[in-house]
Parts: sequence; C-alpha cells; structure tokens
Amino acid sequence: MDWRGRRVTVMGLGLFGGGVGAARYLLERGADVLVTDLRQAEELTASRDQLAQYRPRWRLGEHRQEDFVDVDLVVASPAVPQDSPYLLAARAAGTITTTELGLLLDACPARVIGVTGSNGKSTVTCLIGAALSAAGLRCWVGGNLGGSLLDRVSEMKPDDRVVIEYSSFQLEALSGQKRSPWISVVTTLSPNHLDRHGSWTAYVRAKAELLRHQGPEDHAVLNLDDAAVRNAFTREGNGARTWYGLDSTSPPVATGLERGQAIWRTEQGDRSLFDLGRLKLQGRFNVRNAMAAAIAAGLAGAEPESAARGVESFPGLPHRLESVGETNGVVWINDSKSTNPASTIAALESLDRPVVLLVGGRNKGMSLDELAELVPRRARAVVCFGEMADSLKIALGVCPIPLATAPDLDSACRAADSLVRRGDCVLLSPGFASFDEFRSFEHRGDRFRSLVRRRIGASKSTQPVADGGR
Ligand code: ADP
Repeated sequence: MDWRGRRVTVMGLGLFGGGVGAARYLLERGADVLVTDLRQAEELTASRDQLAQYRPRWRLGEHRQEDFVDVDLVVASPAVPQDSPYLLAARAAGTITTTELGLLLDACPARVIGVTGSNGKSTVTCLIGAALSAAGLRCWVGGNLGGSLLDRVSEMKPDDRVVIEYSSFQLEALSGQKRSPWISVVTTLSPNHLDRHGSWTAYVRAKAELLRHQGPEDHAVLNLDDAAVRNAFTREGNGARTWYGLDSTSPPVATGLERGQAIWRTEQGDRSLFDLGRLKLQGRFNVRNAMAAAIAAGLAGAEPESAARGVESFPGLPHRLESVGETNGVVWINDSKSTNPASTIAALESLDRPVVLLVGGRNKGMSLDELAELVPRRARAVVCFGEMADSLKIALGVCPIPLATAPDLDSACRAADSLVRRGDCVLLSPGFASFDEFRSFEHRGDRFRSLVRRRIGASKSTQPVADGGR
C-alpha cells in the first residue's frame, strides 16, 4: 500500500499505544494524518510527545464531521462504538474505516494465531508466545495486550507467527474485513462489556468473528468446559475443531489429564502437552489456559517437548492471581485484572486457603446474582469496596460470612486487616472495572501491591511468598 499523500484521520489517540502506533506507521509512510480525540491536549501529553517529531495535524477536545467525510481512511480506536455518528458519517460518505489492528493484519506477512474470550486472553496469548519461542519459532505477540505491533511489522517474515489478543471491541470493529485467523482460540465466554454491546447475543456475535471466516485449513481451539463456548461455537466457521477441557473425558474432547500429564489425543496418537507438576501457573483455570496454548503452539508447528517447557515455565502475568507478599502467615494475592464476576468466581474456585475477598469497582452492566451466590460458599469473609460497595452488600443479602464495606481500596485493606486469621489469604479479585477509583486495572493492582508492602514493612516479615494453591 502506498500511503504517500493519503488523507487519514486517526480517531482516539488514547494512552495505550494503539493510536500512537497507527499514527506513527502512517506518518512514517508519508500519509497526511489528522489525529483527533475528545480528550484535551494536556490529558494526552504522553502519547502526543511520541508523535511530535512527525508533526501530524491535531484536533483535540472535539471531533468534527468534516474530518471524517473528506478523507481516504479513518483509523478508529476499538473503544469507539461502531454506531458513533462520526463513523456512520464516514461510511455514508464512502470512507473506509479500520483500526490499528486492521492496519497490522493488512500489512503483516506472517500467519496469525488469534485469542479471544471473556477471561484468559492475555494469559493464553503470552503462553502461546512462550511455547513458540521455546520451540525456536520466531513470533510476535500483541493486539489487545497493549502497545502496537505496527512498529515492528517491517521486520516480520512470512515464516513468523503473530499471536494476537482480540477484544470483543476489536472483533466488532474488524467485522467488515471478513477475515479470521489461521488458528483461533476461545478461552471462556461470560457476560462482559454488556453496557457497550447492548446484549449477550451481540457480545457473543462479536466474539464469533474470530471463527466465522475460517476455512477447512484453519483451526479452532475451544474450551469444552465452558458451556457458553460449547453452545455458541460448535458450528461457527469451517475451521477444524480441537476441544480441550478438564471436566469431561468423553468425545469430542481432545485433551485431558492422565497420570499428571496433559494429553492431546490426535489422529497420530496421544501426545503429552505438559507436565502438570511443573506448571508454574496457579489455578485450575490456568491448567485449561496452558492446554489451549500448548495445542495452539502445536498446531502452529512447535516441537512438542520444547513447547511444553515454554508453557511450564511461564510465570504468569502481573495482576492475575499474583502473590504479592505475606504478613504474619497471611498471603496477599493481587488479581486486579479480574474485571468481571466470572474471573472472581474462577479465582475463588482455585484457591485452597481460606479467602478474605476484596470485591468491587464499577459495574459494566453485569448481573451480581452468581457472585452473590458463590461468595458466601467460597470466601471466609468479604469486603465490598468502592462504587459497588452498597449494591454488592444488598446483593449478598443476609450474608452468613463476615462482611464489611469500604469506600475505597485503602480502607478495604484496613477492613481486611481486622478480618484475617493466620493461614488465610487476602484476595483482591474485584470482579468489576477499576475506573471508579483508578486509571486502570494496573493502577489498582499497583496500589494494592504498595499497600501490602507497607504492611510487610510494618510486620518486618521476611518470609518468602507462598503459593496460592491450585
Ligand atoms: P483477559 O485478557 O481476557 O482479561 P487475563 O489473562 O488478563 O484475561 O486474566 C483476566 C482475569 O481472568 C484474571 O483475574 C485471571 O486470573 C482470570 N482468568 C484468566 N484465565 C481465566 C480462565 N480461563 N477462566 C476464568 N478466569 C480466568
């Protein structure tokens, strides 16, 4: 594609790297780029500084219709709803709309392994990267993880593998391209982002885009233990299906656990995916994540033994069931990336210590029923904090376990101090978005980590961090 002189509007610069990556890619190739964002210039300083040398045109603090109709292309952030009046105006004027990921997929010469799901996307994406790298295959990992792979696209070769995490927003925005990856992995499906998608059906429809355009030479790797994945994706697209799971051993399951090994049943015979005892990741759901990743890496050509070592030694990502310290026999676990109730439920089901749960944040339109039903059965005590504190307390009703409410995370940790007993863990698995109090889930998790460090300092504990249990 010759971008010289093409007029492109980049809509939504943001602070996560995608907008900067798209704008830089186009500017370096000679496009005439206008960057527009509803935020004011001073809120975007970190991103603007990265583009200063290329001198794009700016329209900040507002959008103007003329910037969308009289251009060759609009590159919109996936955060922009597809029914934005500006995108609708662009399309009505015959302007093509895409995203940073769409530009990458157009330019990338390598084959794509795509990962989506309501939970587990980042973990599985990085696990696949670890497995491919351990097997000596050149791979690139990105997408919804953050940053932009567009910066590196000129280094990519046809024999490389590109592992992309797709959010439902990204899939929805790319639906016009009618393109699905070579290998698609779906980890889980549970209600998420319903405030944006409007309904469960629309959310599932967006996720299905990952499989919809697959042909018989493509592969879908699907979680058999997740009823919603099973129901929604049995017939989506024409890719060859490989089901993985822990709960069922009957056909068509392709994997299971046998004598401490995760086994993949292929037409060529059984194949060991990894040794369960060597898996560093905590939690039963992470065994499924590791299975998905090892299968995807195998389908992508990774030599099985090396791929297994890559999966086994993967240490996990920060803010996902991350042990951050121990005070007086109490382990503190940061699961701040839990931004929907299903991930909190998965965390509660994974830990074998008594749990003092810190739950709360901003609701994205999700029901509290399942959480309210499970928390009293799985937690020893619960602290509801932040914007959701009162509604969670009401949902928990006459709660049979000790319950406290707190306006923010600091006071939630203080409430936990008075509820914990030696041998417990304090689990920050909020189950809701962080934006009531924080910029992001990382900001929330970092704050939790520093609150724990302060306690460790105060208790002068030098004990090593204990396992969270499987
Ligand atoms: P995503 O990228 O989909 O948000 P992450 O890997 O970042 O997924 O994990 C997000 C949250 O979901 C964390 O709290 C993590 O512990 C939890 N989680 C990860 N994998 C799964 C899974 N397979 N099932 C349920 N919860 C999961």
